[in-house]
Amino acid sequence: MELLDSADDNLRRAGECIARGGLVAFPTETVYGLGADAFDARAVARIFEAKARPSFDPLIVHVATIGAVDRVAIIPGFKARALMETLWPGPLTLVMPRREAIPDIVTSGLDTVAVRLPAHPVARAIISYSGTAVAAPSANPFGYLSPTLAAHVARGLGDKVDIIVDGGPCSVGVESTVLDMTVDPPRVLRPGGLPVETIEAVIGPIDSRKAPEAASIAASSPGLLESHYAPRTPLYLVETGAMAAARPSGRAAALVSSAVSGASLEATAGRFALARYLSPTGDLVEAAAGLFAALHELDSGGFDQIWAEKARDSGLGPAINDRLFKASKK
Ligand code: AMP
Ligand code: MG
Repeated sequence: MELLDSADDNLRRAGECIARGGLVAFPTETVYGLGADAFDARAVARIFEAKARPSFDPLIVHVATIGAVDRVAIIPGFKARALMETLWPGPLTLVMPRREAIPDIVTSGLDTVAVRLPAHPVARAIISYSGTAVAAPSANPFGYLSPTLAAHVARGLGDKVDIIVDGGPCSVGVESTVLDMTVDPPRVLRPGGLPVETIEAVIGPIDSRKAPEAASIAASSPGLLESHYAPRTPLYLVETGAMAAARPSGRAAALVSSAVSGASLEATAGRFALARYLSPTGDLVEAAAGLFAALHELDSGGFDQIWAEKARDSGLGPAINDRLFKASKK
């Protein structure tokens, strides 16, 4: 494995590596991705091997331009086009009917494919240099916390990848919002780095209800699996503002989501070996950006328990709470 900085020559080498069937971990604005040529089934198979990811889990295909979507998917209508033109590049993944050229291993046999145009300049340069579309899940062992630093990738996957490009910390810090564009109104399959409110401002109401039939949806959209993004340390979730309800035992750490108030400080101080605030001012963008890094840090801090407080339920709050909920499931 080679660890490269984000100098242009290195991005070219990383793109060429993908074009030759290699595996490259690179930063996006959401989390670090593990990329391979989306049209090369053997290369994509190496992703599953490196992550030990079950083959029923479909991957997101990353493109560098809207024009490149046509080779991957059939754009199903004006709403999909409006979202691409308004909210791409960015943390929004659109599920659309697939093109035949996309191998089954990418979509796990579904007749749809998930596509995203990331905003991170390093990701876009690597995709451009590869000359292809890049299938890339998060660059972590399956089920474990997502990586938001190159060091997380090196620790989790190490020699299983050919190149890791270090582009610093990811600015959004949670995975993309996944939206099913094959139904009308479009439906949220996974809450993520782009708030529902922002999407609705472009195309009107979308279906963001939590799926009642979660189990059957999980089979078609495994980002909805209950245990995912999980630390090894047991994690317990409490409601917003309710850290006082936590019953820590042993050496416990607190992960506090809401703004530092007298109450939450009082409730946490003394009862935990360590308290970390996701954002001292309660800023949800800052909280999302630091979420996985905080969980990685607490998970390697030798704690018996992590107690996490839910974020408030607007903007990026649902995406943060979704990750915390999954981190609490074993
Ligand atoms: P990750 O690559 O780890 O960010 O996860 C990608 C997630 O996108 C998957 O776990 C699915 O939930 C979702 N996804 C990808 N492709 C499809 C698809 N064709 N249909 C529905 N959901 C998808
Ligand atoms: Mg993942």
